[in-house]
Amino acid sequence: MKVAIASSEVAPFAKTGGLADVVGALPKFLKELGCDVKVFVPRYNSIDDTRYDLHYEHTIGEMLIRVAGIPRPVHVLRTDLPGSSVQVYFVDCPQYFHRGRLYTADPDEDERFILFSKAVIETLQRLQWAPDVLHCNDWQTALIPIFLKDNYNWDKLFHRTATVLSIHNIAYQGSFPPSTVAKAELRPELFYSGGPLEMHGFVNFLKAGILHAEMISTVSETYSYEILSPLLGEGLDGVLRLRQHDLQGILNGIDTEEWNPATDHHLPIHYSSKTMKGKMQNKKFLLDNTTIQFKEDIPVIGIVSRFAGQKGFDLFADVAIELMQMNAQWVILGSGEERFEGLFRSLGSAMAHKVWAYIGFNNELAHLIEAGADMFLMPSHYEPCGLNQMYSLRYGTVPIVRKTGGLADTVLDWHEYSYRGLDIGNGFSFNDATGYALQASVGRALDVFFNDKATWKKIQRNGMNSDFSWKSSAAKYLLLYERAIMKRRGPG
Ligand code: ADP
Repeated sequence: MKVAIASSEVAPFAKTGGLADVVGALPKFLKELGCDVKVFVPRYNSIDDTRYDLHYEHTIGEMLIRVAGIPRPVHVLRTDLPGSSVQVYFVDCPQYFHRGRLYTADPDEDERFILFSKAVIETLQRLQWAPDVLHCNDWQTALIPIFLKDNYNWDKLFHRTATVLSIHNIAYQGSFPPSTVAKAELRPELFYSGGPLEMHGFVNFLKAGILHAEMISTVSETYSYEILSPLLGEGLDGVLRLRQHDLQGILNGIDTEEWNPATDHHLPIHYSSKTMKGKMQNKKFLLDNTTIQFKEDIPVIGIVSRFAGQKGFDLFADVAIELMQMNAQWVILGSGEERFEGLFRSLGSAMAHKVWAYIGFNNELAHLIEAGADMFLMPSHYEPCGLNQMYSLRYGTVPIVRKTGGLADTVLDWHEYSYRGLDIGNGFSFNDATGYALQASVGRALDVFFNDKATWKKIQRNGMNSDFSWKSSAAKYLLLYERAIMKRRGPG
């Protein structure tokens, strides 16, 4: 099967979040399953040509792609995805992509990704390479399905190409003024109130993608149901309900080489589910680098997060006093909204013996916290997939999470399952988005930690034995692609 994947981020070249990790990993595993894969990404000026050995694609040469009525010169560079022979094509248009950051609030943000989407299609034309599936990701590439079905419908090359749209976070939709219709050369008659391009008077890229892709996916099964409801659908739940039979949740895998306590080069001591002793030494190493005194028997609760409203730290703030009265120590890493940075900074200075907060981004510290903490807190309001809870499970660091999205799919509450007679629980979770529910779950975790060591070990081991590799997720994408192809080509 020939698969083209278009994305505004691909690790390790350009990354702001989980999307980059997905597109950096999935193609390698698709290749192992026998797919012929090409990946497309904008060439941002932050991407280092020499480091990644980017080569100019002479066979493609200069393409002139019209956006907002002006033909823009576009060139293409190429390299392999590190550690594989998957070809990655970089769409080079300095005017749009040399801005020092991946996303902007500039007035031509729409033009940047209209150009990228058209460039993906036109590169495929120059290569005369018709993918069986063109896999688009998030709003930045969500116009590709309508472009293929309308603007480029004249080209027989794509008549058998199916499109798949993956939604990594429905809160970001690509919403632009009506003038975008002309900039993209979409047919003006498609833009009307309630029409396929329109949402609240604006052009909505994600809506167009949802309505025109053969299949749609999200990054966890629970999130795929949640976005069908007004509570988490961000205004697109009605549109998604029209396509709910073509919507599927596939949990992201994790990089099991980077996040493996038995080999993690950021850790002073390695450990595994068989040799757990090393975990305590990591706890000591972590705390020795903070204001908190190491005590074997006092649990450390870790937090590593963007401090965005989505992540639920308002619930933490609501019960901060009660949480501080509990017998636990806190190591917190993150950055984002000032209200949360301020909260954690002030807790750290008022109670330095109990709370240590590092405001900023630090990958090494993230690894040390995963290894050194006993528990890990993620009280998210919503979480399309979430990676940290999966890292925590692998590191024997028991997650305490709100039961939403990917957190609900990966963290099984110990008490809920043991009540049903099953000893498969690997963490603690709560439903209500309240400080009280969060506090109660932390309380339950502490109770098991202090009073039932054997159960605690069992919970840790259950987590450490979970399989979150890309192998099984990639196989599910392959099935999704097959469904998309069947829809595009019809029976026979
Ligand atoms: P999201 O993509 O919504 O931020 P995820 O849990 O899917 O949430 O992924 C977050 C990733 O970013 C994880 O790999 C996490 O370790 C990392 N991360 C988040 N904040 C920080 C930070 N301050 N320092 C280091 N790593 C961080």
